[in-house]
Amino acid sequence: MRTRGAATWLVAVSLVLTGCSTGNDEPEAEPSPAETTSTPSATSAAPETDPPALDPDDPALDAALSRPVADRVYPAVGDPGVDALHYQLDLTWIPKSETLDAVETLTFRATEDAEEFQLDFGKTLTATSLELDGEKTRFRERGKDLVIRAPVRADQRYTLEVRYRGTPRPVAAPTTRDDFSTVGWAITDNGETWTMQEPFGAYSWYAVNDHPSDKALYDFTLSTRSPWVGVANGKLQSRRQAGGNTVTDWHLDEPAASYLVTVAFGNFRMTTERSSGVPLTYWTPRGDQSALRSVRVAGEELDWIEKRLGPYPFSSLGFVVVDSNSGMETQTMITLGNTDYTLSPSVVVHEVVHHWYGNQVSPRDWRDVWMNEGMTMYLQLLWDAQHFGIPLESMLSDVAAQDSEMRASAGPPANYDPATFGEGNIYYPPALMWHQIRRRIGDDRFWSLVRAWPRSRDNGNAAYADITAWWSRKTGQNLRPLFDQWLLSETSPPFQA
Ligand SMILES: [Zn+2]
Repeated sequence: MRTRGAATWLVAVSLVLTGCSTGNDEPEAEPSPAETTSTPSATSAAPETDPPALDPDDPALDAALSRPVADRVYPAVGDPGVDALHYQLDLTWIPKSETLDAVETLTFRATEDAEEFQLDFGKTLTATSLELDGEKTRFRERGKDLVIRAPVRADQRYTLEVRYRGTPRPVAAPTTRDDFSTVGWAITDNGETWTMQEPFGAYSWYAVNDHPSDKALYDFTLSTRSPWVGVANGKLQSRRQAGGNTVTDWHLDEPAASYLVTVAFGNFRMTTERSSGVPLTYWTPRGDQSALRSVRVAGEELDWIEKRLGPYPFSSLGFVVVDSNSGMETQTMITLGNTDYTLSPSVVVHEVVHHWYGNQVSPRDWRDVWMNEGMTMYLQLLWDAQHFGIPLESMLSDVAAQDSEMRASAGPPANYDPATFGEGNIYYPPALMWHQIRRRIGDDRFWSLVRAWPRSRDNGNAAYADITAWWSRKTGQNLRPLFDQWLLSETSPPFQA
């Protein structure tokens, strides 16, 4: 997630820079040869019937095997008894009645013997039928929990089909930030939709084990009134017209945590191009040239990031620009609010960097969200320093001057107040910490380890003990006291720019 900009100079600089591109009234330019607004060639091969059901024992699903845990910060979400492997989400959005009509097919592994299991599931959604391995099964909705009353055996795999409908509503976010107060599915005044759902809230629109320790593969079939279109994570497989609706199929080929899943329905225009061999796709509001111009810095920025972090770790990268005030690193399809700040080059860099730090390797639970934001913020600060011509040392000193205030208001980065999720304390103090580690071990060693860590945990999760032990082992130095001082202390450690 992007920071709300606790360092005021950062916001100011970003606003100034993007201020020149806010004229929205110019007509849409003709697409240049490098881009296309047509549907991809896969369109003609669009499947007219449902794909065959997945075999739960297909070894391809092993990529999504996880070790789910209970969350220490937000224990009300997730069920460690469920290891979701694959979600097939067939979603039809009816803007006029604000109704989501859905068929979800979840393939999962039970992690333990149990008489029942549960998924997180929005209170405003109604399940109309559930089938476990093709047999109708009993269930009840208890608050936000969908409890499935069927015995499961440890390490057996199952297929659960859930049919549901309703108007998804976002849920209260555990935060004091000013750019969002709810998480989950949002509906705009004209019936368009988008979602941002960190640290939870995916359950506002589908039945999910809503916890970062349980990554899963995804396929989506999205249908809505033409010319609107549904956008989701992964690659667009096909796009077709059916009964006045646009239907799109999306495939995410590497597992994602539920907070990194995105779906948006709206009047989007698609623009494609390539960077470093990675296909880039921009979904921007039709007629909004300004938004498109802003996000197209991504190609150049991706090149800059790859020089530091190594090759982009996924097979595609897209952006969808929605009516939000925030930005989110949703996996391979970044969701950005349509504001000057959230479309600024700094925020675009930030969300792309998360694909290494946060998406390729994710925290095992929410205590360690600093692992995402600390390194991402450090890279963003480096980029800002270079881009705005401000010495890095002076930027870091400005940030360090605010360290104690951030700790005082929201707690230490790795032991924060659960009611203040996503405050400056999880971004800036850990960024300063990485700078101290860089000074201690030198540039070459530092950058080679920064590149190696996400690869060593490709598509997995890590906890505090894992990352601190790994850095100590790789450097041959006991860095644990330094990590503890920066991440667990109520008071600011000494900082050297
Ligand atoms: Zn972030």
